[in-house]
Amino acid sequence: MNELFFDLQVLLLNLSFIFLLFFIHHKYIEGKINKVSNEIFLGVISAISILLCMSFPFSTYPGFFFDYRLIPFIIGAFYGGKRVGFFLLVVLLTYRFMISFDVGFFSSVIIYSFIYILLCMVSPHFNKLKQLRRKIILAIVTNTIGIIIILVVIHLFKVRLSTFGWFSLTSFYTLQLVVMFFFIYFIEKAKKESIVLSELKELEKLKVVSEIAASISHEVRNPLTVTKGFLQLLQDKTLQDEKKDFYIKLSLDELERAEIIISDYLTFAKPSLKNIEPLELNTEVHYILKVISPYATMRDVHIEFEQVNDIYIAGERQKLHQCLINIAKNGIEAMPDGGNLTLQISNSNEMATISIIDTGIGMTEEQIRRLGTPYYSTKSTGTGLGTMVTTSIIKAMRGKISVSSKLGIGTTFTITIPQIDKARKDRI
Ligand code: ADP
Ligand code: MG
Repeated sequence: MNELFFDLQVLLLNLSFIFLLFFIHHKYIEGKINKVSNEIFLGVISAISILLCMSFPFSTYPGFFFDYRLIPFIIGAFYGGKRVGFFLLVVLLTYRFMISFDVGFFSSVIIYSFIYILLCMVSPHFNKLKQLRRKIILAIVTNTIGIIIILVVIHLFKVRLSTFGWFSLTSFYTLQLVVMFFFIYFIEKAKKESIVLSELKELEKLKVVSEIAASISHEVRNPLTVTKGFLQLLQDKTLQDEKKDFYIKLSLDELERAEIIISDYLTFAKPSLKNIEPLELNTEVHYILKVISPYATMRDVHIEFEQVNDIYIAGERQKLHQCLINIAKNGIEAMPDGGNLTLQISNSNEMATISIIDTGIGMTEEQIRRLGTPYYSTKSTGTGLGTMVTTSIIKAMRGKISVSSKLGIGTTFTITIPQIDKARKDRI
């Protein structure tokens, strides 16, 4: 009985070696490198498993060792292919030779060469199989044939085993089939899971890319609308040359912005701030005013600017413009009969605040809640992507955006962004 317990202990040891090594392979190595290195790693892992199993056999008879080396041999050859199988055969036989050069060595040469030939024939089919059940059946059948080869050869070599010996040997080998079943089952499940996971990630990426692609048109529309406004103003025959030049310059600037936005969007999947620089809020808001005022004039909207000098934040100029234009444009659009749009800059507690206040139609609680979700728009030609992009840009600038609104009275968008020290601005 003690003997059986000892055998069981060793058997469990065998199993834990194999499980541990293949687990490490699956978790940390497989799929993270190219196919050839993967093959090499699989070969090494299987070889180590074989060596460990052979070092702790669960039954020994003069010249013969019984262990679970067949499992890593089969699995290595199945998942790695013929080359890995051959490598494992060489490792196995060399180690067997080193343990002792006896009759058992010759029997091992015969046994494992036969099994290797069998694996070469079976492994291409194994990899082609799609169904888990078939894979398991094939692995178990292969394993059974391997065990039969072992038993036949040791019988031919006239190994004298007691009845108990035969019993324990056959039961351990039967158990090996169960182990094989679970092994293939776990490996295949884990493989499937990682495939599903990577497909999910791919889908998520596609989703973002498609959202961004859709927003290109929206973002390009802002500069285009503004340019259109300027061109309409240019139709005025009485316009002074100086003003004309000014409008043309602004139009060209805006078109360039549209161009930059397109190339920007093509290169980014999610908003990340790359060209971060110190931005002086007054200068930036002044630029926005220039850009947006023709659009406002066309809609009878009067713009006011309450400024405070020398407030610096760190961010990407283009993106800040994009945000402010989005919000200001929304404000103007919320006042179909004209009104006031106020831009305020203030600072407190190391935070810079930009408020954009309109006297427009306002929003309900429900509308505010839905703000920033893609494709939520109440406009016939709206895309509902403006606020989504704005929110993510502000977030990337470590800022916050809040909205307060009253139906029929107006809306205030407040952006708070960490201020940077003026003295340190050059060192960013
Ligand atoms: P779009 O402008 O294309 O509709 P946005 O994401 O910019 O998309 O805005 C989403 C929706 O939020 C708008 O359709 C509008 O209903 C509402 N909204 C945004 N800003 C304001 C505002 N200042 N006043 C009233 N409603 C607004
Ligand atoms: Mg908008």
